[in-house]
Amino acid sequence: MDTTREVEVVVAGAGQAGLAAAHHLRRSGFEPDRDFVVLDHSPGPGGAWQFRWSSLTYGKVHGMHALPGMELTDADPARPSAEVISDYFDRYERAFDLRVRRPVDVRAVREGPGGRLLVETSDGVWSTRALINATGTWDRPFWPRYPGQETFRGRQLHTARYAGPEEFAGRRVVVVGGGASGTQHLLELAPYAAATTWVTRRPPVFREGPFDEYAGRAAVALVEERVRQGLPPRSVVSVTGLPLNDAIRQGIEDGVLDRRPMFDRITPDGVEWDGGGHVDADVILWATGFRAAIDHLAPLRLRGPGGGIRMEGTHAAADPRIHLVGYGPSASTIGANRAGRAAVRDIRRLLEREPAAA
Ligand SMILES: Cc1cc2nc3c(=O)[nH]c(=O)nc-3n(C[C@H](O)[C@H](O)[C@H](O)COP(=O)(O)OP(=O)(O)OC[C@H]3O[C@@H](n4cnc5c(N)ncnc54)[C@H](O)[C@@H]3O)c2cc1C
Repeated sequence: MDTTREVEVVVAGAGQAGLAAAHHLRRSGFEPDRDFVVLDHSPGPGGAWQFRWSSLTYGKVHGMHALPGMELTDADPARPSAEVISDYFDRYERAFDLRVRRPVDVRAVREGPGGRLLVETSDGVWSTRALINATGTWDRPFWPRYPGQETFRGRQLHTARYAGPEEFAGRRVVVVGGGASGTQHLLELAPYAAATTWVTRRPPVFREGPFDEYAGRAAVALVEERVRQGLPPRSVVSVTGLPLNDAIRQGIEDGVLDRRPMFDRITPDGVEWDGGGHVDADVILWATGFRAAIDHLAPLRLRGPGGGIRMEGTHAAADPRIHLVGYGPSASTIGANRAGRAAVRDIRRLLEREPAAA
């Protein structure tokens, strides 16, 4: 028995990007279940926010943009962002009747018959005319490799598994990475840990003054240019620099944010630099970022020689049926909103131009 179900559009992922896209589909007259489905493999609403550590309160989140059509009002800044945003996404899904199916894991997307795509999932196969891929990055933490890493006797973990500073009480912690997560970890850990060491590949760039729209657009344009050339995207945050706020200023003054260059090797009891220098450590915390979680697109062979997917706007240059939202230049809450709208606009044109085969 063929259990393949047919829709016009599959949205993979129900984070900011997937919900924004689903909202615009709905507004354009696409009916959930009949014309489109939203599939997500996480247990509940919230996208990646549901997994963020509880000490990342809503007040510590910078520049979270509301989803289209419904403001996030009266949020308590002292509440964990994981709770605030998951609640908000839950209300949003209900308000717009988006009918997210979860947990449904998208395992592979392949070319199907009649110019359709086959989306293979943990809950059967969907045949679709277009795919909006909004699977984010949280599921692909990036760990660089260093000599001796496997010999380390302490604990190594990635930001994706960080649950707050308390469990590091009395520990000597090396934090690797010069992004927002690395600095936030250090500021949180300092009062608990026996010692902290901060190492980054490049000297961190602190940004003075407000991050205005002009600077934001310039940062997005940089990432956009990379994906247009088919290079792997860098995160928007990685090109905006670190905002020099009061907490960061204090951290620099207290010596908590005293950066050292990247170590050359890991030893059983710490990290070491060429030409001398060793730091004893019980924990190495890798705040080294994430990569796009798009392994399920591999059968479509979209990656080019540059190692990334060459993009035109929100769709793969080689295939206008495949949209990547929350990817590269749209990997921010505001970018995800805009990309969701743009993807739906393009898909409407695509589907009207090529009516479904009778
Ligand atoms: C610690 C941290 C703080 C941040 N703070 C900010 C901020 O203050 N402001 C800002 O603008 N941006 C911030 N960002 C970036 C921001 O979170 C993202 O740009 C945006 O929220 C991501 O939305 P998304 O929908 O692309 O991805 P996600 O929220 O990751 O959603 C992706 C969804 O896809 C699902 N999924 C993944 N793979 C599959 C699969 N194979 N099958 C089915 N479902 C799948 C996941 O379950 C998830 O629900 C932050 C990021 C991090 C890591």
